[in-house]
Amino acid sequence: MIKSADIVVIGGGVVGCSTAYNLAKLGAGKVVVLEKKYLASGSTGRCGAGMRVQWGTETNCLLSRESVKMLSHLPEMLDVNIDIEFHQSGYLLPAYTESMVEQFKKNLVLQNSLDIHAKWLTPEECLDVVPFMSLKGVLGATFCAEDGHCNPFKVTEAYATAARNLGVEIYTNTEVLNIESKNGKILSVHTASGDIATNTIVNAAGGYSKQVGRMVGVELPIFPERHEILVTEPVEPTLGPMVMSFYHNLYCQQSPHGSFIMGLGHPNEPETFNIKSSWQFLCDMAERVVEILPPLARLNVIRQWAGLYDMSPDRTPILGNTPAMERFFTAAGFSGHGFMISPITGQLMAEIVLGKPTTFPTQMFDAGRFERGELFKEPLVV
Ligand SMILES: Cc1cc2nc3c(=O)[nH]c(=O)nc-3n(C[C@H](O)[C@H](O)[C@H](O)COP(=O)(O)OP(=O)(O)OC[C@H]3O[C@@H](n4cnc5c(N)ncnc54)[C@H](O)[C@@H]3O)c2cc1C
Repeated sequence: MIKSADIVVIGGGVVGCSTAYNLAKLGAGKVVVLEKKYLASGSTGRCGAGMRVQWGTETNCLLSRESVKMLSHLPEMLDVNIDIEFHQSGYLLPAYTESMVEQFKKNLVLQNSLDIHAKWLTPEECLDVVPFMSLKGVLGATFCAEDGHCNPFKVTEAYATAARNLGVEIYTNTEVLNIESKNGKILSVHTASGDIATNTIVNAAGGYSKQVGRMVGVELPIFPERHEILVTEPVEPTLGPMVMSFYHNLYCQQSPHGSFIMGLGHPNEPETFNIKSSWQFLCDMAERVVEILPPLARLNVIRQWAGLYDMSPDRTPILGNTPAMERFFTAAGFSGHGFMISPITGQLMAEIVLGKPTTFPTQMFDAGRFERGELFKEPLVV
């Protein structure tokens, strides 16, 4: 194993790989990625892989808008021959209460002002995009055709391949066990295969980022939360867009291979590293999804699993340095939407780490905002 590096990225998920690629592209010197299992073995490989530009805060709208643009031509941008299965089939967000209607219409004004072409649909117009959906309780919906999905394993592989092509070394099955530091400065990272001397770390450890922070005495307000998801048998293409209901706290889409992928959030899920899937989830998911999409009752489920959301208190990521430790940077707290914003996240992280002007303002992502009470609460999260 390499003995020293200019920058060590901890975590081989989509964010770690995107960050490593962008660092190398900007000429960061020797960049190393350390992943305790295999690439995309964390939340990335367990996610629903949806991408949407319909958000409730300007920040999230911009991050996702730019990322979707990049995803639309990612293989060309990275000069790799990997099909990431990019597919824009839209997201339909139905509203079931007057307060949701009000919030969604406010979101539309924001989104349209940012060149995001989402629009309001009446209940009858919803049937034009999802003909078999139940209109029970639906007061209208927002729809954006630019939303869609792509394959998270392929996106990670694309970034990892491009990073390697630029000289990044990626070590899998290599867990960072400890970090040595002195007088607020990083000295090295410790793994079972040896130590790597470095003065710069990017913590991209997803649900484990708090634990990695603690290795240098940094207490990040990020906590892991289990989210469950399932996949059905593949059938003929029938559902174009992702249907996401904040009322039922669920999302459901049909993949290009024909399987339906769906998941839901439990409001009282405790902080946990448990990623076991539950019987209760299967019951709740089945019951709730057929309320919205009744014909799905005839589908067979073939697999269910769970993964961790790396939650931040305002559901907005933490990107940047933490004052307690020099050159210890964090890219985590994605709260269930880190996959879709990974392209711009990697770019911003590389700019931050290398002290370059950032593509977007990034001061609102600093970890200090929680103490200052300057939260950017995102309302649209399942
Ligand atoms: C069920 C579910 C559905 C989701 N759906 C979506 C969606 O539709 N759209 C979307 O945008 N996002 C979605 N997400 C969220 C998305 O998966 C994450 O935000 C994103 O994958 C975060 O990527 P990451 O690289 O930061 O984290 P991860 O993919 O978790 O990567 C972190 C990596 O760090 C490694 N690691 C941890 N500790 C160490 C250590 N000490 N040493 C070395 N390596 C370490 C882990 O093994 C892991 O591979 C979903 C998540 C879940 C769980």
